[in-house]
Amino acid sequence: MTSMKTSCCIAGGGPAGMMLGFLLARAGVAVVLLEKHKDFLRDFRGDTVHPSTLEMMQELGLLEEFLQIPHSTLREMSLQIGDEQLVIGHFEHLPVHCKFIAMMPQWDFLDFLADHARRYSTFDLRMSSEATDLVFDDDRVAGVRATTPDGEIEIHAISPSVATAAIRPCVSAPGSVLKTSARRWT
Ligand SMILES: Cc1cc2nc3c(=O)[nH]c(=O)nc-3n(C[C@H](O)[C@H](O)[C@H](O)COP(=O)(O)OP(=O)(O)OC[C@H]3O[C@@H](n4cnc5c(N)ncnc54)[C@H](O)[C@@H]3O)c2cc1C
Repeated sequence: MTSMKTSCCIAGGGPAGMMLGFLLARAGVAVVLLEKHKDFLRDFRGDTVHPSTLEMMQELGLLEEFLQIPHSTLREMSLQIGDEQLVIGHFEHLPVHCKFIAMMPQWDFLDFLADHARRYSTFDLRMSSEATDLVFDDDRVAGVRATTPDGEIEIHAISPSVATAAIRPCVSAPGSVLKTSARRWT
């Protein structure tokens, strides 16, 4: 088994893990992000990017480029009852740049973030790499064990972060595991 050291190891390249990895790498923190699949194309992934997320992309200076990705916009929601069309919600009063939901597959969002994160030398995304266990130093979580296309690896990190439910059952011991989760991926 090979072993390596980094500052932060994140297990799971969903919206939570990918955004965390991007932000840390952008702040100069060395990050290894493990994603068990070889790409982000998952059937279960949704396709709405909400105004609050678009605002965050604006704050990150990425909005203009992000909106170059093919998408459609949803500016209001309505309900048809008989012959009557009722508007039940619209976004025009939101205090944000994009007063709409962008309809875009989640994998496009993830690919976009991954592409931008890769521009930082501190970002190390490892696809087809599955976190299988935690590494302990006495009772402190000190890293993550993973299977990768190159075999088993032990990643020692100052801050292992579990961005997926997959190895949460292992995280019962006191330690420095930061459990990240996006309530929605937008
Ligand atoms: C059918 C469906 C439709 C949805 N539609 C929308 C929508 O339109 N808009 C919206 O905002 N939200 C939507 N959601 C909710 C949204 O998808 C979730 O809130 C979001 O995906 C959670 O992000 P996450 O990063 O916490 O977890 P996940 O997206 O589940 O990401 C976890 C990642 O970890 C990886 N992984 C798992 N185990 C391991 C391991 N051991 N090692 C390495 N990697 C691992 C997985 O492959 C995955 O990529 C939808 C959810 C579902 C189920």
